[in-house]
Amino acid sequence: MPDSLPVIFFGHGSPMIALQTNAVTETWQRMVRDIPRPRAILCISAHWCTRGTAVTAMTAPRTIHDFGAFPKALFEVQYPAPGSPALAERVRELLAPKPVLLDRSAWGLDHGTWSVLVKLYPQADIPVVQLSLDATQPPAHHFELGRQLAPLRDEGILLIGTGNIVHNLGVMNWGLEGQGYDWAERFNAYVRSAISENQPQRLIDYPDAGEDAEMSVPTAEHYLPLLYVAGARRPEDRVRFDNEHIEYGSVGMTSVSFGA
Ligand code: ZN
Repeated sequence: MPDSLPVIFFGHGSPMIALQTNAVTETWQRMVRDIPRPRAILCISAHWCTRGTAVTAMTAPRTIHDFGAFPKALFEVQYPAPGSPALAERVRELLAPKPVLLDRSAWGLDHGTWSVLVKLYPQADIPVVQLSLDATQPPAHHFELGRQLAPLRDEGILLIGTGNIVHNLGVMNWGLEGQGYDWAERFNAYVRSAISENQPQRLIDYPDAGEDAEMSVPTAEHYLPLLYVAGARRPEDRVRFDNEHIEYGSVGMTSVSFGA
């Protein structure tokens, strides 16, 4: 049996990060440097929301450029990692009896996935599968799916979530480069303490943080990948926080790893 792998949530920020080398990307690389090489990666990205749950099951997922006005160079990024129909099938088995659609042609790898993986594994030689977010389901559902996926950690699969704990593009302020609004800093601290004290119910019940949550999570898709990662946490895991800053007032870059 291979060594157990960690589970990691990455705060991904702007897609432009795929073209940059900075403190955030260097930290991402350090976070995976000492872990065993995964046999495959299962990624839950903020950018694939569906009705019902789907998993990519094609052998060669396409690189999806799912954003608007960005430089041409970003549209030219390719992340040609293979897929893994076998892992997709295994995911469906682990989530049964909940129905999971095997997507053989529609999706691929969106920028929530490749903007991070292009830094972690630039060779793109590890198979990657994406699991969609069923936008019709409440937070507890997503946490439970993460719990059901935890056995993958012992099967050489790296489970990652990619989103942002704080994500409110409507009030971004370019003048606040490495600084968050007060409500953003408070919500980030709420999540940090729920994780540090191993109180997952507080993560699920994040609307309890009131206005701070309403401002930080105006829509749930960037927050939900964290719940999968938290769901796959084990009691013996060590917790590490990285990139704990908020950019432009309202985009939290915090990453969290659970592992040995
Ligand atoms: Zn995003």
